[in-house]
Amino acid sequence: MKIAVVGTGYVGLVTGTCLAETGNDVICVDINAEKVAKMKQGEIPIYEPGLDLLFQRNIAQKRLTFTTELAGAIEEARIIFLALPTPPGGDGSADLSYVLGAAKNIAQLVKDYKVVVTKSTVPVGTADKVKAVFEAHTQVVVDVVSNPEFLREGVAVDDFMKPDRVVVGTRSDRARKLMEELYAPYVRSGNPVIFMDERSSELTKYAANSFLATKITFMNEIANLCELVNADVDMVRRGIGSDARIGKRFLFPGVGYGGSCFPKDVQALAKSASEYDYNFKILNSVMEVNERQKTVIVDKMKKYYKEGLGGKKFALWGLAFKPDTDDIREAPALYIIDELVKEGAQVVAYDPEAIENVRRAKGDMIGYAEDPYDALAGADALIIVTEWPLFRTPDFDRMENALKARVIFDGRNLYDLQRMIDRGYYYNSIGRQTIT
Ligand code: NAD
Repeated sequence: MKIAVVGTGYVGLVTGTCLAETGNDVICVDINAEKVAKMKQGEIPIYEPGLDLLFQRNIAQKRLTFTTELAGAIEEARIIFLALPTPPGGDGSADLSYVLGAAKNIAQLVKDYKVVVTKSTVPVGTADKVKAVFEAHTQVVVDVVSNPEFLREGVAVDDFMKPDRVVVGTRSDRARKLMEELYAPYVRSGNPVIFMDERSSELTKYAANSFLATKITFMNEIANLCELVNADVDMVRRGIGSDARIGKRFLFPGVGYGGSCFPKDVQALAKSASEYDYNFKILNSVMEVNERQKTVIVDKMKKYYKEGLGGKKFALWGLAFKPDTDDIREAPALYIIDELVKEGAQVVAYDPEAIENVRRAKGDMIGYAEDPYDALAGADALIIVTEWPLFRTPDFDRMENALKARVIFDGRNLYDLQRMIDRGYYYNSIGRQTIT
């Protein structure tokens, strides 16, 4: 099938590449000319494990191409995916200007039947808005389909190639058949393509992300309580996670959720609800608790360093909002850095993939290390913010030689408490006993 993907970011590039992988002809359109030029040279603009291989293969086999020209890209496409940003607008609602703007441009160009698919996360009623844009600008029949994306950065290729489920919102039989055909290779093991109306589909995505954000936030609150009552959140987590109704996943406490999706989607759902005069109380609490959780580590540090953080030097491991990505959007590390610098501390950070993105955002506000142990040199403490696998079993001897003091503030509970006791650390993690 011939497919156009408009917007070649994390979602668009994974979608385009994975659709090419099963034999479709995919053309990716982006307004960022520099990015398109790089992709044409075979240079992948994001870090996403496993994507490069597929990206190179499909470029080489000429099923995956890139352009800045919308007109040429959509001409032959049967299905046009919109994988455009939907950032929070000033009032917290999703900014639909990218999606509606692209819809208008496409509407002015279409000459024959197309299925236009919103892959972006968009509020309930957006498919109707997109449809109205088409009706206002063209006589050509176009079906507007909602097909929210559930991929997780870091495992996006697997999530796309073997999705737990695909959600498609359409009431058009014609569009449904095309979408069924398109997704058939990805659900061969029997996972469902769930068809529904557009509004339910749009809400499904927000409900999923908001539920997950709530689950994390609930555990963060349990962890905070564990510290007060002298309980161990790891034990509580295992105790509740083995209940099939609760499940083991998404129960790890930390320094608050971040990323390009949870913060904006929770906010947008709360805002959508309020537009219908519904006060979505849980989501308001989730946002409030998450704000507090982002700086819980700094609060702990302020308590520990009674003389203040000014003049101290801290090593910070992990900048990406989660492991296996270079994405730093709404990353808790950025909030922690801001707080520490505000307090007059010096920060030297290490991350396997996200340093360049942070350098662009924060410049020389902090130092950057090429290697995790270099970051530790002469530091008063280590702060762990992202649970990259390589931080799990570090060389503790090297660590101790580099650090000025054996002090760790761990926002991800990476280390065994007994080990920290044995090695003589002050070790402060989330929802567990503080080792002193
Ligand atoms: P992104 O910012 O990484 O990518 C967006 C791309 O669109 C950029 O390359 C940008 O240059 C391009 N663009 C902007 N305006 C354009 C235009 N008019 N024409 C062509 N290209 C244009 O965003 P993303 O993370 O891929 O997210 C896209 C959507 O998918 C959002 O709605 C997001 O909520 C949703 N989503 C994201 C994820 C995720 O993990 N990142 C997961 C599921 C859903």
